[in-house]
Amino acid sequence: MSKVFFSSWNGKLTDERNKKPSERMDLQDLDVPPQLGEKELKAFIGWAGMVIVDPELNVVETLKEYFQSVQKESCGRCIPCRAGSKVVADRLEKLLEGKGSKNDLAFLKEISSLIKDSSLCELGMSSPVPLLHALEHFAADFEAYLSETPPARDNGLAYQPILTAPCRNGCPAHINIPKYIECIKEGDYEEALAVNREKTPLVGTLGRVCVHPCESNCNRQPYDQSLSIRLLKRYAADFGAKNNYDQKAKNVKTAADAARVAIVGAGPAGLNAAYQLAQKGYKITIYEALPIAGGMLAAGIPSYRLPRDILNAEIGLVESLGVEIIYNTKVGEDITLDQIWKEGFKAIFIANGLHESTTMGCKGEDAGYKGYLPGVEYLRKVNLGEKVDLGEKIAVIGGGNVAMDCARSAIRLGVKEVNLIYRRSRAEMPANAAEVDAAEEEGIKFHLLANPTSILEDSSCVSGLECIRMKLGEPDDSGRRRPEPLEGSEYVLDVDTVIPAIGQVADYSYMTPECGLELTKKENLSTDPVTMETDTPGIFAGGDVVLGAATVIEAIASANRAAEAIDNYIRTGQSKVEAQAVSEKHVEEIGVYKEAVVPEMVGGRERLEEEVLPIKERLKGFDEAELGFKYPAKVINEAERCIKCLRLGMTIL
Ligand SMILES: Cc1cc2nc3c(=O)[nH]c(=O)nc-3n(C[C@H](O)[C@H](O)[C@H](O)COP(=O)(O)OP(=O)(O)OC[C@H]3O[C@@H](n4cnc5c(N)ncnc54)[C@H](O)[C@@H]3O)c2cc1C
Repeated sequence: MSKVFFSSWNGKLTDERNKKPSERMDLQDLDVPPQLGEKELKAFIGWAGMVIVDPELNVVETLKEYFQSVQKESCGRCIPCRAGSKVVADRLEKLLEGKGSKNDLAFLKEISSLIKDSSLCELGMSSPVPLLHALEHFAADFEAYLSETPPARDNGLAYQPILTAPCRNGCPAHINIPKYIECIKEGDYEEALAVNREKTPLVGTLGRVCVHPCESNCNRQPYDQSLSIRLLKRYAADFGAKNNYDQKAKNVKTAADAARVAIVGAGPAGLNAAYQLAQKGYKITIYEALPIAGGMLAAGIPSYRLPRDILNAEIGLVESLGVEIIYNTKVGEDITLDQIWKEGFKAIFIANGLHESTTMGCKGEDAGYKGYLPGVEYLRKVNLGEKVDLGEKIAVIGGGNVAMDCARSAIRLGVKEVNLIYRRSRAEMPANAAEVDAAEEEGIKFHLLANPTSILEDSSCVSGLECIRMKLGEPDDSGRRRPEPLEGSEYVLDVDTVIPAIGQVADYSYMTPECGLELTKKENLSTDPVTMETDTPGIFAGGDVVLGAATVIEAIASANRAAEAIDNYIRTGQSKVEAQAVSEKHVEEIGVYKEAVVPEMVGGRERLEEEVLPIKERLKGFDEAELGFKYPAKVINEAERCIKCLRLGMTIL
């Protein structure tokens, strides 16, 4: 158990320096998370002070490293932060070299207070805090460098600086959002794209379909509205695509004798793992069951939300790194996991997603009637260009994004009446509010507080759907109020097709008793939550098959962690994630802002909304419905709404 040596975090002083190690407070009892990852946490310093675990920590060296990082991240819009952080870092270096004087110590105190009080953004205002604490509580450590025998400099530590903000913390993949917003403000879309590309090839895709937890976390929200972060990302990606930025991307040459990694499934998780591993020099082969790559991005999400030229260009970027995708090859049917091992792969990453529909438990569901078509199967057919005959009236069951995609696609395919049946009220619908609004605008008929009880047939073809009205009872485990049937309220909808879209499950046909893989209670593949390694050494997994029906950005995040762990596994025999990822997780857990910071001087600038295709145009086919920001002035304007509530933390391992 790690013990606290000293902490000044969040204004609470815990000074255990004079106690015996065994009597010191457990790190767990402090309001910061305990060590993460392989190595023990030696210290964490940042916006709210210092937490020191290792009594041997060189405080002066650590602060110099911290201020060098502040200097790198400072945007330069105000002098105190940009110039002040350099002066502090230089003065600390002078001290460490044994060339300092008492005046330097006084000066450090003065300039830290000046930077804190006169900077315009949170980075400048918060970064002097640990130095001021150190000057107060570790004065002897600084003075030691003025003596004739100064302490040795400690270079054996790993310093992991993390520029953080609520948006970045809220992003499961920890994309450096503050940094790319800054780039956009400067009109540097190439760099903005490059910052995103550090984490994923799927930038234009995310710019369209990401559920943007970053925006829900944005500190501007309590003041007026969050920033349109997703649309800023989209603009940078589209600008890059138009200007061939990816042509300039580093073209990785894979060595002939490079270690090989096999991936099951070319969805966002599989593609992301391939992208990261290929850049680390591995030779990647993806086995994909379908004739196309992209997973649910290609086979689920309709093209009016995600145009295929955007997706395909991003898949092309992955392939340009030498990644081979073997199509029409289902692992478990066309090739087994055992055969894959025997082909000489050093590790396997499983990311086969959830491609089977959950059943509704209503009468007639298993009868094989013509006109009964599970949601993901229907969307797959539409996306693969297969003919689907839905008839004139249909019923889609569910209140999530998949149900919205089914209903909104049907109306574009010319179905005259699309009924959407959902057992709770609109407020409980799990779909994005924007999707629900769009569905309603496009003419989908909502049947709220209704549930199917029986599929009716005529000559084995669907002829109707019997539903029962529901009322909301007490909240269930999910916190949503439990829907309960209203006895005797059954009614019939005349429909030609019934499309259940209430959930998906995985196909585990590749699992054999010998492969050693385990399932969780929720029937997902069991993995270590950090490294994504399964119970079988060398087999890793990520995306929906591990997380349950999740999101693209979560699939990307899990794949990135797995890619790091796979790299370590192949190089060292041990799967672990790198210090950078440990540090990102650390900062996420600390929380950065316990409460939203409402800045004093925020101009009243409303969130800018994107252009959308008029409804009449939308319903003519599958043309993209949401058009993003068209003009740079709008993009820069929106980026300027960022209140720069970023802060710098540093994990020392
Ligand atoms: C209709 C729909 C709309 C959605 N909309 C959104 C949205 O707007 N925003 C969002 O963030 N998320 C959305 N999601 C969720 C998101 O698409 C998933 O979370 C994400 O695609 C999961 O990625 P994955 O790589 O784990 O799996 P998938 O994307 O499912 O990819 C798995 C891949 O593995 C292949 N495969 C399966 N079995 C095998 C096998 N045995 N052998 C070889 N290959 C195999 C599949 O064909 C597929 O290509 C949506 C999902 C659906 C179904």
